[in-house]
Amino acid sequence: MSRTVSRRMLATWLKEVGVDYVMLPARASSSAPAISPSLPVGDPPVTLPARDSAVETLDDIRGELTDCRRCPLCAGRSTVVFGVGNPRARLMFVGEGPGSEEDRLGEPFVGAAGKRLDRWIARIGLRREDVYIANVVKCRPPGNRPPLPDEAKVCLPYLLRQIRAIRPEIVCTLGATALNFLLGVEEKITRERGKWRERDGVPVLPTYHPAFILRNAARETEVFEDFDALALRLRLPSAK
Ligand code: URA
Repeated sequence: MSRTVSRRMLATWLKEVGVDYVMLPARASSSAPAISPSLPVGDPPVTLPARDSAVETLDDIRGELTDCRRCPLCAGRSTVVFGVGNPRARLMFVGEGPGSEEDRLGEPFVGAAGKRLDRWIARIGLRREDVYIANVVKCRPPGNRPPLPDEAKVCLPYLLRQIRAIRPEIVCTLGATALNFLLGVEEKITRERGKWRERDGVPVLPTYHPAFILRNAARETEVFEDFDALALRLRLPSAK
């Protein structure tokens, strides 16, 4: 008797038996990759590069970026800030791009905004080491400006491959830039935060960027609501 096994069933089963980082081959008949990037309207779709190997780890992806010169941001960076955390995290955060401290230390969210993010993570009973943290672009934009669309377009496939390698249960985007580049929309974070979205099967919850909250303390209660929603969906012991 034959039985059809869907990609999702296979992925779920592999995860259950402890096999991580499996990259399923691209669908032969579909133009959409398992996690396809999307850019603001008008940009041609970016497709994930075809992979020979069925397995890709974060280190494989990191290796491709060590001396990356694919966009002009390479000129001003000290370090490629790849990402940090648990490669099997259930929860992944995505920010905009490294700032000066991150560029110096090679780790995302280590400055003042990062300390605030750590507090939010602790509030739901997790540690920084439990989650995974990455950015849309891996090199510091000059003057801490947001990444330009062309810069994000070049770097986005690496973020998508990180998501695919980690396979988190939830991606939480921090700020409008991460939301808009990851989902290929042009929306206001003040309207969209706290509303569940999806990027190719991965639930996405947008919330404010911690740097914004450092300047707008009164809005932190909204972030607390969003983190409560994360805890609930992940069924963390801290869930209310
Ligand atoms: N802001 C971001 O968006 N990312 C960082 O890594 C640091 C600050």
